[in-house]
Amino acid sequence: MEKNIEKTQCLIIGSGPAGLTAAIYTARANLSPILYEGMEPGGQLTTTTEIENFPGYPEGVDGNAMMEDLRNQAKRFKADIRWGVVTKVDFSSRPYQVIIDNEKEIEAETIIIATGAKAKYLGLTDETKFMGMGVSACATCDGFFYRKKRVAVVGGGDTACEDALYLAQLAQKVYMIVRKDYLRASKIMQDKVMQNENIEILFEHETRNLIGEKKLEKAILIKRKGKDDESIVEIDIDGFFLAIGHTPNSTLFKDYLETDELGYLTHQPDSSATSIPGIFVAGDVADPHYRQAITAAGSGCKAAIDAERFLASL
Ligand code: NDP
Repeated sequence: MEKNIEKTQCLIIGSGPAGLTAAIYTARANLSPILYEGMEPGGQLTTTTEIENFPGYPEGVDGNAMMEDLRNQAKRFKADIRWGVVTKVDFSSRPYQVIIDNEKEIEAETIIIATGAKAKYLGLTDETKFMGMGVSACATCDGFFYRKKRVAVVGGGDTACEDALYLAQLAQKVYMIVRKDYLRASKIMQDKVMQNENIEILFEHETRNLIGEKKLEKAILIKRKGKDDESIVEIDIDGFFLAIGHTPNSTLFKDYLETDELGYLTHQPDSSATSIPGIFVAGDVADPHYRQAITAAGSGCKAAIDAERFLASL
């Protein structure tokens, strides 16, 4: 019996700002896109509280509400948005084959990969407990809520330094919790944090747990863990920012597409095109630098236009 394989001109994988913007544009271009939402419909923004830096929302907007708006906008143009996770791909020849939830097969002429990235967490149960009530992995998204307050940034890389410097402009005091006795960040970033009076670097400190009644109040740290002079240190904080790296959700595509050394999908300069014709990337899965909702949305728009032009050129 012949297999019933669904065919589409454009398949979008991922439902954050990049994927949904790509859906709006490809739908308006009459490509009848099918979008699979993935494990976390709406993407990383659904885990933040309020978004104040997305242009067009003068009063700010709840992350979930904004994603719902984007979703409804894509549906208004008849984008076919579906619940489901892509479990396997075969990009060896076009149309490209994609398997959904290990069973359904789709063949797509173009694919826009917008699977995003996830922030790394320490793995403490308290991180989950205080998520959105003191714990955040996005200083530029949530820093503003800690004006004149005390915050800590975990990590010693460039992201941690950047986040600490950003927060130091807003908060009364910024601690950097660094597990080694040195910063991994570039020299220029190290110099900047060292020279900032608002930032105190706690070298050789690790986080043991977080404490608070209704919201975060304290972090309990272990200083020089495992050494003879190991001790416990308490810091009073309102915000706890993770900056220990991100992991792009690119594993599924690694057999076919190139990644950089951190696992981010690479694309051609000034284009969202990958090394495979008809396969485009958008958003955080291909962006180690900016990782903002607005840049993700912009790249989703670019990928949609690239897909449309690719199909027109055939
Ligand atoms: P990095 O991997 O460079 O640094 C991660 C930091 O988090 C390290 O200090 C690491 O400690 C620490 N860390 C990791 N896991 C834990 C843990 N479980 N507990 C405590 N600390 C932990 O990630 P970044 O996001 O900072 O940077 C990623 C890449 O992006 C880098 O190449 C960076 O240079 C680049 N980047 C560049 C920027 C710029 O140029 N402006 C801005 C931001 C990023 P340890 O050192 O002990 O391993």
